[in-house]
Amino acid sequence: MSEKEKLSKWQEKEKKLSYERKSCWEGCTDGQKKKIFSLAEKYKTFLGQAKTERKVVEFIENFAKKNKMECFKNKEKAIAIVKTGKRPINEGLRIIVSHIDSPHLDLKRIPLHEEANLCFLKTHYYGGIKKYHWVNVPLSLIGIIIGKDGKKINVEIGEGKDDLCFVISDLLPHLAGKQMKKNAKDVVTGEQLTAIAGNICVNDSKIKEKIKLNVLDLLNKKYGICEKDMISAELQLVPSTIPRDVGFDKALIGGYGHDDKICAFASFEALANVSKPEYTTMMLFLDKEEIGSVGNTSAGSYFFSNVVMELCKKQNITDPMEIRNVFEKSRCISSDVDVGINPVFAEVHDMQNDPIIGGGVCIGKSTGWGGKYDANDSNAEYMANIVDIYDKNNILWQSAGMGKIDEGGGGTVSKYFSRYNMEVLDVGIAILGMHSPFEIASKIDLYYLEKAHQAFIK
Ligand code: MN
Ligand code: MN
Repeated sequence: MSEKEKLSKWQEKEKKLSYERKSCWEGCTDGQKKKIFSLAEKYKTFLGQAKTERKVVEFIENFAKKNKMECFKNKEKAIAIVKTGKRPINEGLRIIVSHIDSPHLDLKRIPLHEEANLCFLKTHYYGGIKKYHWVNVPLSLIGIIIGKDGKKINVEIGEGKDDLCFVISDLLPHLAGKQMKKNAKDVVTGEQLTAIAGNICVNDSKIKEKIKLNVLDLLNKKYGICEKDMISAELQLVPSTIPRDVGFDKALIGGYGHDDKICAFASFEALANVSKPEYTTMMLFLDKEEIGSVGNTSAGSYFFSNVVMELCKKQNITDPMEIRNVFEKSRCISSDVDVGINPVFAEVHDMQNDPIIGGGVCIGKSTGWGGKYDANDSNAEYMANIVDIYDKNNILWQSAGMGKIDEGGGGTVSKYFSRYNMEVLDVGIAILGMHSPFEIASKIDLYYLEKAHQAFIK
């Protein structure tokens, strides 16, 4: 050891005693880098083609079939995939749960509207968005319409390279004097989130709304639907953008819907990469997290417990007391994204406790807001056990906080699983620009999350 590298007594102590958060890229080998980048490509393909919860379910169902996994679907918006473990189910399950819905703009029930020689689509935003993010961004329309005789019609407009798109056009700066003085939340209002959808009119002076009728005619020719059919339809506007590498070194991925599709991806990849898990393992993908886990496709529904009961039945466990035991012995990871430190907005962060981009898997002991209201606070024993698993498997991880105290807050689905008295811990990765049309994640964090999920089920 050279003179320069020799540590002083206190330096040695520091190395031994202090918790140091490091960039995972430090010490990353070329071989690892290759694996990291190839996993990221796989993820980008998934993220680019599965922008809505229905599309994710379709993707995962196909994935499960290809990888010979058991699969339970809930109304095309939530799904569970399962691999039977070496041990009997009465020793409990391993569960990793993520959500597959992302903030977007739903069309209103009667969306088409004509004014000033333009046709518009009225929307109602879904989830926690900064409304001003959604103007001047190319938007795709994705979803389903139930046509005559209950026929399901898939709609997907704007995703192809040469496809048309929709856009909410913001006010020009020249006339924005008053707008610029408003609070950011009112700069663009919910009602103003109205997307341009047409300009050509039908040639008939007897018709009042000529452009709207032309659009309805186009929709009728393409899908065989009329305006009434849109009342029950589920159509969402999402950014048309495809996932892109960000930065000179291409270390980051920019895209729509990392929250929480990046954790969903890490989960199903991990299950495919473990041929025989120790315990029966369920990867659960849920809807409606962004609006508070309400509704029958969310964490608030009995779908999860119904699937567990079905799995128990297959191993001849039907006694309610025994099933209750299965729940209590199970262990759960709630896998959702975390708030990464954005030094541009340093004032909201606790620089010591919030996670860094490229700092590895984020382990969050508690979620919630204020005095930890609405939180799931994991038990120290369980958390330490997961940390131990990660350390033994060389998973680089960091502790995750969520901004300065009382700066804001948020929750995950973890509290819905703690109800079963099973152990639950939040594990995810740090994201920048969360809930925006173009969120940022680090490729190396994704790599370690997939490895962490593998280690948990092995
Ligand atoms: Mn989330
Ligand atoms: Mn979210």
